[in-house]
Amino acid sequence: MIRSIELRSDTFTQPTEGMLKAMFNAKVGDDVFGEDPTVNELEAFAADMFSMEAAVFCPSGTMTNQIAISVHTRPGEEVICEQGAHVYFYEAGGIARLSGCQARTVAGTRGQIFSEQILPLINPEDVHRPRTRLVCLENTCNRGGGSTYSMENMRQIRALCDAHNLTLHLDGARIFNAIVANKENPKDYSRIFHSLSVCLSKGLGAPAGSLLLGDKAFIHEARRARKAFGGGMRQAGFLAAAGLYALQNHVERLEEDHQKAHRLADALGSASWVKSVLPVETNIVIFEVAGDNPASYWVEQLKLQGMKTAATSPTHIRMVTHLGVSEEDIKTTLGVIAALE
Ligand SMILES: *Cc1c(COP(=O)(O)O)cnc(C)c1O
Repeated sequence: MIRSIELRSDTFTQPTEGMLKAMFNAKVGDDVFGEDPTVNELEAFAADMFSMEAAVFCPSGTMTNQIAISVHTRPGEEVICEQGAHVYFYEAGGIARLSGCQARTVAGTRGQIFSEQILPLINPEDVHRPRTRLVCLENTCNRGGGSTYSMENMRQIRALCDAHNLTLHLDGARIFNAIVANKENPKDYSRIFHSLSVCLSKGLGAPAGSLLLGDKAFIHEARRARKAFGGGMRQAGFLAAAGLYALQNHVERLEEDHQKAHRLADALGSASWVKSVLPVETNIVIFEVAGDNPASYWVEQLKLQGMKTAATSPTHIRMVTHLGVSEEDIKTTLGVIAALE
């Protein structure tokens, strides 16, 4: 059987050999009691990396985002985010379900929003109006095709939040893709965001796990919310070991994934069956198909050739590169992209 090339998402990664070894050798304890040494090490390592005071390890990025929202808000308040933001679009109504808040969404530019767009959405003090409490940004922007925020834009949004007494959370599921692509210093994020969520299970290649970072008081409350949401894990050090290994060994190599994504985009750009490709900045390639056949038809054609891809709309397809997509896989895929018609 031909091995299929997995381009649907960077969540499909298998643990690397070094990662498996780290997991096998992990020292563990009961993390709900704060006694798992590997979880504690991971949390301290990540907090230091971003110059945040503290961190808490959770099962998923959805949970870290929703815990952040629940700790930052009270029921009846409003959360501002982009209309395709993961916190709103892909988290099963968590903002309403878990925090009793409502989302005020705005259409961004490839997933990014700007302070001028946020300003008019901030409600005045008036008993009729929900209190605006929180702004959530996403970097990289998933539905924006892996686009990245500029530091300048994020700083301006923070200044607006400060002026209006709003809290600013970053869904940084793929923050390391942005950091590597734009050669940023992770510590700069602590000066902009009150809280930050980071996925270890995307391009970093860990089997599961996300981190939520913030100041000590916030993380203290986040631990209680994690318990309430059912995310308190016991000997979680086996997973934390994978995450720690990923942070220490799999960050710089993200550049290879970005190069591969650029090569896919170039090939797609000159394929007859592709109408247009969103600009590629990181490891996500989103493109629109040409002609009368829907995206699902082309997903099927690619699948017959061994490439798994995902339709993100009736006309758009997504390909994501990660550590499970080899140089050989890319060469094969480039050939198939050129041959389809
Ligand atoms: C994947 C992802 C998450 C979290 O997803 P989980 O599957 O719950 O870990 C959050 N935000 C963005 C932008 C993502 O792509």
